Amino acid sequence: MKEKGRTCYFCRFWIGEGVRERGPHGECRRYPPVVTARHPDGKFPRTISTAACGEWQRMAAAATEEPAAARP
Ligand code: SF4
Repeated sequence: MKEKGRTCYFCRFWIGEGVRERGPHGECRRYPPVVTARHPDGKFPRTISTAACGEWQRMAAAATEEPAAARP
C-alpha cells in the first residue's frame, strides 16, 4: 500500500511540467535518460505526480545533502 505523501510530487527526483513545475506530469531524474528506439538521444522517464516507486526520497533530503556534495 502506498504511504500518503510518498508520491513523485513530493520526491526529490521529480521535476514537474507546467505552471511552477507542479505537473500533473513530470520527469523522474533519479537515473540518467533512457535510450529507446523512439528516443535515441535519451529521455527521462515521464510520470504522473501521483505515481511512486521504491526509489522515492523526501524533497528535504536534497537540501541537507547538497552542501556536502559541493565541498571541495
Ligand atoms: S519514479 Fe520514483 S524516483 Fe522517480 S520521481 Fe517518482 S518516486 Fe521519485
